[in-house]
Order: sequence, then C-alpha cells, then structure tokens
Amino acid sequence: KPSTSRRTKSGEAQVAGMRLTHPERVLFPEQGVTKLDLARFYESIHEWVLPQLARRPLSLVRCPQGRTDECFFQKHPRVAIPASVPRVEIAEKENRTSEYVYVETAADLVGLVQAGALEIHPWGSRIDDIEHPDILVFDLDPSPGVGWKEILRVARTLHERLESLELTSFVRTTGGKGLHLVVPLEPKADWDQAKAFSKAVAQQHAEADPKRLTASMSKTKREGRLFIDYLRNGRGNTAVASYTVRAREGAPVAVPVRWDELNAALRADRYNTDNLRRRLSALREDPWEGFRQAARPLDAKRLKAVGVK
Ligand code: ATP
Ligand code: MN
Ligand code: MN
Repeated sequence: KPSTSRRTKSGEAQVAGMRLTHPERVLFPEQGVTKLDLARFYESIHEWVLPQLARRPLSLVRCPQGRTDECFFQKHPRVAIPASVPRVEIAEKENRTSEYVYVETAADLVGLVQAGALEIHPWGSRIDDIEHPDILVFDLDPSPGVGWKEILRVARTLHERLESLELTSFVRTTGGKGLHLVVPLEPKADWDQAKAFSKAVAQQHAEADPKRLTASMSKTKREGRLFIDYLRNGRGNTAVASYTVRAREGAPVAVPVRWDELNAALRADRYNTDNLRRRLSALREDPWEGFRQAARPLDAKRLKAVGVK
C-alpha cells in the first residue's frame, strides 16, 4: 500500500494528514530511525495499533531529541501535542480534573510522534466508561539473573491460574525484558476491585513458589526473583500498548503473540520497527483472535474466589 506521506517545501513532511516538523531528526541513533520513519511505521500498521489505543487516556514517554537524549514520562503533555489530537478531562483527587490526550485516527497517532512520543501507555479503561477497566495487565518483571525459560514458565502457570478463575489471558512481548499477560474484562468492576483482584492473584501465585516469585515491590524481596507486577491495574496506571515502540536500543516494539509462539527462541525484544511488518504480513490471523469475546466480568463470584470482598 503506498504511503500517504509526502515532503512539503519547507523541509517539513506530512504523514496520514498530520504535519511533521524535523522529519529527518534521528530518534533511534543505533538504527538510524528518524521521526519520519517512525511516523510512517505507525501509518503502515495503523490497522493493528489503533484498536489497541482508541479512546483510552494516554501517558507518553517523550524524547523530543531522540531516545539517547532527555526522555520524560508525561501524563499531561498539553502544548506539545498538536491541537487536533483529542483531549478528555478526567476527575482527579480533590474535585480537580486534568486533561489527557487520546487518539482515534492515524493522524492523531502521527501527532504523538510529532511531539516526540517514543512510548505510548494507555489506561486499562476507555473514556466512555473511565471508572471500569476492560483489561487487566499482569506485568512479569524478571530481576537480573532470572532467565527467559523461567519467565516463560511463570507466564504459563499464571495463565493456568487465571484459567481456573475462568479468565482468559493473552500474552505479549514488552520490547524490554519481560512479558505482559492481558486479561479482557467486561467493564463492570471498578479500579479498586480490579487492583484488589489482581493483587490477590499475584500474591497467591507468588506464595505458591516463594523462592522464585514475589508480588512485593520491595527491592530486597525482588532480588533474584521474578516480580509479578499487578500495579498496572490501579486507576491512572498504565502499561505500554501493543504494537507500540519502546524508547530502548533497537527500537523494539511490544507485540502480541500466540501462546504456542512462546518458546526459547522468542525474546521480549524480538520485534522492532524494522521486522514487525514482516511478521504481520505473514500472519494468518490475529494472534489475539477472540480477545473481546473472551471478556468476563470481575463479579462477586470471582472476587470471592480470590478472597476479595
Ligand atoms: P519490561 O518487560 O522491560 O519490564 P515494561 O513495559 O513492562 O517492560 P516496566 O518497567 O515493568 O516496563 O513498567 C511497566 C509499566 O509501568 C510501563 O509499561 C508503563 O506503562 C509504566 N511506567 C513506566 N515508567 C513509568 C514512570 N516513570 N511513571 C509511571 N509509570 C511508568
Ligand atoms: Mn514489566
Ligand atoms: Mn513493572
């Protein structure tokens, strides 16, 4: 499919109808990936990435001068984001509200690139029903020394634990070191219930194998262990979106995979802006086929099953 990008006279470019300044700016020096390359990358996979992001409040990791310069995690990027990218006011503590950006179109997504966003981190709920998450994320964080085989083992055993609660989990590489298990939910429970539920599941899983696992943030508890990070599931917390890039060496991308693709040869940073399109064009079906249909509520029965009142 031909790209809709073009260069304009002034040295600016346009991708998916969004104006890009400094298109030649190198964002990933090791790969020579420029701002224009990244915008075209997202345009070329917009059918995959937009459903992951659409209508979710976003936090961004912005690195306006590229990933080896200064980067900052931003919840409220304000002026840096082109005005055409939609915003939503969300209630915060003490009767205040604050503004979050969200995306609906490929142009909006390119607008985030225009602002130097090298990572995109959505909420687990949509702006239409902000208080009720429609996904849970279990973030498997290996400490140094924990091998890939161990990460795979924990992903599979946690998948089974969730199955026993009649919840289906889907797995993705993070582009970093670990894996994320993502559970589709019917948006019924609130954030406090979602966090309490995921905490209970993570703690029960860790307690069954305390030498190798922990659900505690504490540095000493984590040492030598794999940390089951359930803290992605609180109101205002985020996890990186599927099919989005990480501000790390190699321009890696977080990528959904099928359970039977998890093997010794896969790695958390296996896919990147260079090789992802080849994977996508070779796929016979969405590796997360059936994701939405698998959604179940965190109802009283499930909360009770893990000891949450
Ligand atoms: P890895 O596989 O290397 O752990 P990851 O994306 O899971 O990759 P984590 O460090 O475990 O990285 O972070 C989990 C999530 O926490 C991120 O995806 C992001 O949404 C959120 N996060 C990261 N940095 C910040 C930050 N500075 N402030 C708030 N939330 C953050
Ligand atoms: Mn992680
Ligand atoms: Mn984490």
